[in-house]
Amino acid sequence: MNMQRRGFVAQVLVSGVLAGAGPHGIAQNNSAAGKPSGLALSGDIVIERPLSGQPHSGKVLAAIQPHADDIPFFAAGTVAKLVSEGYTGYLIRTSNDEKAGSGTLGETILSNERDNEAVAKALGLQKLFSLGYRNHQLDGISREEMRERLIFLIRLLKIDTVISYDPWSPYEENPDHYVTAQVVEAACWMAGMDKDYPEHLSAGLLPHSVQERYYFARGPQLVNRIVDIAPWVDKKVEANLANKTQGAGGDNGARLRSRLAAQKLRLPILGSDDDTANREYIKHFFLDIDSKHLRGVRSDREVGRQYGLEWAEAFHYIGPAESMLDRYIAEHAVPL
Ligand SMILES: [Zn+2]
Repeated sequence: MNMQRRGFVAQVLVSGVLAGAGPHGIAQNNSAAGKPSGLALSGDIVIERPLSGQPHSGKVLAAIQPHADDIPFFAAGTVAKLVSEGYTGYLIRTSNDEKAGSGTLGETILSNERDNEAVAKALGLQKLFSLGYRNHQLDGISREEMRERLIFLIRLLKIDTVISYDPWSPYEENPDHYVTAQVVEAACWMAGMDKDYPEHLSAGLLPHSVQERYYFARGPQLVNRIVDIAPWVDKKVEANLANKTQGAGGDNGARLRSRLAAQKLRLPILGSDDDTANREYIKHFFLDIDSKHLRGVRSDREVGRQYGLEWAEAFHYIGPAESMLDRYIAEHAVPL
């Protein structure tokens, strides 16, 4: 595929759609900012706004990430939002993060494990599970084994909603990302089948399928949901602050501040102490000004601006489809 064609396809896929789908379900994006945003072959984009009260009370979500920094990078605002709106949340990490960070292999595993615990805490998640597969090597594991482990957790925790990588996003280079995503996708529906791993049922578990999926991606994606994370952007900063071992957040603000000071310079936006510098760096550079360079995705501010929001995250969302048969029966059934 030549670059021109590839660029067009990428734009089409990334941009998603706004209201006003045409006769073939293809909608023109009439973004508020007036930027050319392309087309996408999906339904209308849903803007998920903050909800009052605890509308998700009784529901369970799992944020599933290969590495300690994936959810903080791409979905921490949405996880914090859903938890604050009543979800009970869990964090599942599939790799052991042994390759990302300084020090020996063992030291790297331990410090990422501590970071991962801090991420769960920052996002208000109840408990974390680490599957411990070797970092960068998930394409060599038994996917069937990992699927059974995830099905077990879906049934045990009664997970209704999953937030993870998009299993169908092209140009994803990291095997930990795409293998985790594809195994999660299969586990979500298979967990609801009573003939898959029936020994789980003998142990007291029940079939339980995942009803809602929020998928994020680093590359082109069919975006159909934009989540307003403005009230939770500081929680997202907190989650990225926790990733000191490998994340592009962590202590980088303080390091930048001291590098500039050595050159007799300072950036007013970073404030006047290290903790403020770390937080402001994550909020203004990592999530916004230098997002493309540091995270490989568009700025959260830019994503939001397109829809009149201050900060936003983009997803391909898959939820339950309403039964039109049930609705038809309710509206048309008559006594015998
Ligand atoms: Zn990752």
